[in-house]
Amino acid sequence: MTPTSQDLWFLPLGGTGEIGMNMNLYGHDGQWLMVDCGVTFPKPGRFSADGTRHHSGEPETQMADPAFISERRQQLAGMIITHAHEDHIGAVPYLWERLRCPIYTTRFTAEVLKRKLAERGLLHQVKLHVVEVEQQCAIGPFMVQWLALTHSIPDANALMIRTPLGNVFHTGDWKLDPDPVAGHGYQPDTFTRLGDEGVLAMVCDSTNATVAGHSVSEGQLYEGLETLVATAVGRVVVTCFGSNIARLVTLAHIAAAHGRYLGLLGRSLHNMHQCARRAGIWPLSAKVVDETHLGYLPPHEVLAVATGSQGEPRTALRRLAAGSHPALELQPGDRIIFSARAIPGNEPAIEGLIEQLRAQQLEVITAEQAALPIHASGHPAQDELRQLYQWVRPQIAIPVHGEAEHMRVHAQLAQQTGVDKALTGRNGDLFMLTPVAGVRRQAVGVGRLGWDKGALVPVE
Ligand SMILES: [Zn+2]
Ligand SMILES: [Zn+2]
Repeated sequence: MTPTSQDLWFLPLGGTGEIGMNMNLYGHDGQWLMVDCGVTFPKPGRFSADGTRHHSGEPETQMADPAFISERRQQLAGMIITHAHEDHIGAVPYLWERLRCPIYTTRFTAEVLKRKLAERGLLHQVKLHVVEVEQQCAIGPFMVQWLALTHSIPDANALMIRTPLGNVFHTGDWKLDPDPVAGHGYQPDTFTRLGDEGVLAMVCDSTNATVAGHSVSEGQLYEGLETLVATAVGRVVVTCFGSNIARLVTLAHIAAAHGRYLGLLGRSLHNMHQCARRAGIWPLSAKVVDETHLGYLPPHEVLAVATGSQGEPRTALRRLAAGSHPALELQPGDRIIFSARAIPGNEPAIEGLIEQLRAQQLEVITAEQAALPIHASGHPAQDELRQLYQWVRPQIAIPVHGEAEHMRVHAQLAQQTGVDKALTGRNGDLFMLTPVAGVRRQAVGVGRLGWDKGALVPVE
């Protein structure tokens, strides 16, 4: 199955019909372009109340099986990583041996990827092209342009993929955030210009398509978080996703404004902070102290950020709850703030962790309990989806990055916004965009691979 010069195809191998392990292919004129290469976790439920995994022996790290494309690797012109979330970048080190194509990404994402490749001794084997926003690159028969959009991690980009048969606008994960705090913002012009040029198909994030309204801006969280820090008497520990650089910057500014020192507890936080510094997006105004200093400060001068918002085992917050963290010991009355949402399936683990913290007489405040917003989603709600469709005006909408229900609602919304045609499907379906748009169901075999004791194994 090879696309001719008269074909323009979209083929998701992962991430369509589910949230996680994104792996998309575009096919034209004998070649393929991969967009994203991420991981996912076993279902159902990742962690039980004590933070241990509770699934039936499946590998913890899973990803889309790339067999279709690894069998025709010579046709794979390259791979683009849109942003550094695990569901988009996480499988690259595991699948590299099978794909061996050049990788294109922007600066912060490249820093995260370099660290991952170095951990597996692959750094010097991979041909990594670091591109700038607005830059265009010819990758095989595709002319790709990177476009700045906002998300819950810096440096998230959408792609305009141009071919002689038509243009595809691939959104990646996005929201419309007027005040993203860290990294680039977005310009409405960027997208209205694409609409003027003509977009055949828009392949778009469905995660929050069932949510009415507009996502909360990162900038809006300052007030809610500041209130909780300002009213705390003892130490404050905030837990959030390590990759949310904007949240860390907001907390650093709040710490400085209230005479506290910000320290980072947990490996992934340190890694992401380092990557943000190397990529030049960490502001000088955001001061961080060495975590080993935290234990020597008076309680009212401590603001720590800790990994473990999902109740995972062996994370900083678990250690703090158990009184076994080497850098910091909490005392009754210290305040713990969850500046994160629960990933579905993790609720028992988070509940278990909260109980453990409360048993130590620590005060726990979750995003649901806070009077003002202290967490913001990184994905577009319905008003944002409508807005982007109005700007881009594609002929065809292709909802991805969602479960069937998210994609169904998303397709309806796109059509209500004036898009002629919406095509929905799932991993393995071949979306033919020209000459007549249509979907060939289950055109290629798909599945999952798991990383188990140093090897890739099929997952049923
Ligand atoms: Zn993302
Ligand atoms: Zn994602």
